[in-house]
Amino acid sequence: MELKVGDSYDCPEGHKAKIVWISEDKKAIAVRCPEKHSEKELKKADYKKSTQSYKRRPTKERKKYARNVVFLIKI
Ligand SMILES: [Zn+2]
Repeated sequence: MELKVGDSYDCPEGHKAKIVWISEDKKAIAVRCPEKHSEKELKKADYKKSTQSYKRRPTKERKKYARNVVFLIKI
């Protein structure tokens, strides 16, 4: 099955997230999940490996829980 940006995909915590980016070799995807995530989970999210089209956001105050977290997933 071919994955596309905009498709739904499970985030690492098992929520229904949405694909926002797919690498050219299709071996990594980024999904944005609307559900709450703890800081512990956030540390797994890796913004640095994203491509140029996916710029890092400015650092904001850390909340205990965050929504709309972007996860990079190797597939
Ligand atoms: Zn999630």
